[in-house]
Amino acid sequence: MNRADLFGNPSATSGRPFFRSALPPEPANAQSISGTCHLHRAKKILGQPSTAGCQTGLFDSHAHYEDKRFNKDRDDILSSLNDKGVRFVVNAASDLETAKAGVAISERYDFIYASAGIHPHEAKDAPDDFIDKIAALTQHEKVVAIGEMGLDYHYDFSPRDIQKRVFEEQLKLALALDLPVIVHDREAHADTLELLTRYKPRGIMHCYSGSAEMAGQILKLGLYIGFTGVVTFKNARKTAEAAAAVPLDRLLIETDCPYMAPEPFRGKRCDSSMLTETAAALARIKGIDIRELIDITFKNACDVYRI
Ligand SMILES: [Zn+2]
Ligand SMILES: [Zn+2]
Repeated sequence: MNRADLFGNPSATSGRPFFRSALPPEPANAQSISGTCHLHRAKKILGQPSTAGCQTGLFDSHAHYEDKRFNKDRDDILSSLNDKGVRFVVNAASDLETAKAGVAISERYDFIYASAGIHPHEAKDAPDDFIDKIAALTQHEKVVAIGEMGLDYHYDFSPRDIQKRVFEEQLKLALALDLPVIVHDREAHADTLELLTRYKPRGIMHCYSGSAEMAGQILKLGLYIGFTGVVTFKNARKTAEAAAAVPLDRLLIETDCPYMAPEPFRGKRCDSSMLTETAAALARIKGIDIRELIDITFKNACDVYRI
């Protein structure tokens, strides 16, 4: 079932345009990537020759640019990313407000896409009609996924039964709309796996923090696995082992910015330009060239988000 069928909106189609054709005018300081070759500029930063033409680059599969920590310089950061080799970003929502804010950013920057969904931290505040509201947001052409959603038993900011219900409703919606899910799981591995096994959505386990063994179970379900700057931390051996166990065709890179800045920026506010460090660490783990790692994770992200 596509979204046009489900919501009777004749303007929505199952095909996803590469770029919106009717974007509102961009502000003077917003930079479009149209007609530019980022990879050639990225070469300067990465210090390696390009072998993949101009269609690839860093794909930040998970970021939070609506976060208030970007309020002072959001447009400066976003308009500088293309020159730093960043080709695409998906801005992940945490609730309905951040979903709307992410969509607004995606309307101003061609290279930014958005998700719509409710994070387990915010599950307790979800309105009764949250599924209708998320579904309505997915009608927007730049919304490519539902999430982030999932379970967080580390903080338990929402009661666990509410976390599970809100997660489950979003899984059902993702299946109905044939959209990928962005899953957040912190110290809730068993319950997360149980629900994913029951619903079998397509999508991403983001900011992966589990073991190599659990990664195997997630891979069996067909999901992609996203790694943040944590993979660069010297004390994150478990994460490095998990990354080693994920085949290249299921691997994604993400910042989860403004959080999770990689070394040598650990503890600072993160942005997508720092993805180079994460890509370099994963390339070392995989024993391949960083350029190859960037090309592969770019293709994987385009595939899962259907961009
Ligand atoms: Zn998360
Ligand atoms: Zn996140």
